[in-house]
Amino acid sequence: MKVGFVGLGIMGSAMAANLVKGGFEVTVWNRTAAKCDPLAVLGTSVAASPRETAEVSDIVFAMMATPLAVESVRDGDNGIIAGLKSGKGYVDMSTIDIETSKESARRAHEKGALFLEAPVAGSRKPAEEAQLTIMAAGDRELYDRSLPVLEKMGKKILFLGEVGNGARMKLANNLVMGGMIAAFAEGMALASQSGLDLAQLLEVLDAGALANPMFRLKGGAVAENNHFPAAFPLKHMQKDLRLALRLAEQIELPLFTTATVNELFKEAVSQGLGDFDFAAVSRAIRKR
Ligand code: NAP
Repeated sequence: MKVGFVGLGIMGSAMAANLVKGGFEVTVWNRTAAKCDPLAVLGTSVAASPRETAEVSDIVFAMMATPLAVESVRDGDNGIIAGLKSGKGYVDMSTIDIETSKESARRAHEKGALFLEAPVAGSRKPAEEAQLTIMAAGDRELYDRSLPVLEKMGKKILFLGEVGNGARMKLANNLVMGGMIAAFAEGMALASQSGLDLAQLLEVLDAGALANPMFRLKGGAVAENNHFPAAFPLKHMQKDLRLALRLAEQIELPLFTTATVNELFKEAVSQGLGDFDFAAVSRAIRKR
């Protein structure tokens, strides 16, 4: 099967690499062309546009930063939709809103193609190790056809029904993650600034019901509060909180904690922390 991959950021570059290693014939495209080079070294072809990526592929995957980024590779003369035709598939793995995803489905269907949204949970390392959780929804036929490809990127793959359910599931997941990292950073700040040893707080957390891989993974960096190379960029977490709040508003669900956590992440972005890892929210809380 020929697969295309559009969007070679932190996640997309690792996921596309796994498709090459998995034996698929892969064609890639990225806005910043230099990010295609390491994939080309692995053996992918490099297309001149998202449209060409779709034209030469049976199924084209995309992993874009935001809803606007999805639109910019999807629409127009050089977009993915222009390269689709009957029998082809379009799988969008970006974390975006339901409306954008439904519009992608509508446009793909207009061309006689199939559409699947398939946002993922798991960060840089799980992407590199093909350990992602994939939340797919949309055309079941495309899900069945894509499964051998998705299996090269993820360890847990769910089909959630109609388009929109993947986005809903992903936003619910990330709302929990945003709240957890904010509470963690506040607990670490309180401990630090009231004179406690942070290594001991990490031990206490890890010994009880609050133990989890995220605190273990981010604990060292939050304790240092200094160096936060991006695995999951903070600006993307703020985008996810914003999209979760918008979804909650549409269904008239008050989310008090998430609204406050979103303000904290907005403050962190305004302090220039957006391109660092989301754990850098600690820097917006802890001053010492
Ligand atoms: P990233 O490293 O920031 O990469 C974003 C990608 O989108 C890049 O290919 C970038 O192209 C492209 N892009 C951004 N704006 C664009 C535009 N206007 N036109 C065309 N291309 C554009 O992000 P990432 O961490 O890989 O995340 C990608 C998606 O996965 C996001 O929706 C994120 O929320 C989600 N996600 C991320 C993680 C994680 O841990 N990183 C985990 C789960 C889900 P350039 O290279 O040219 O900038």
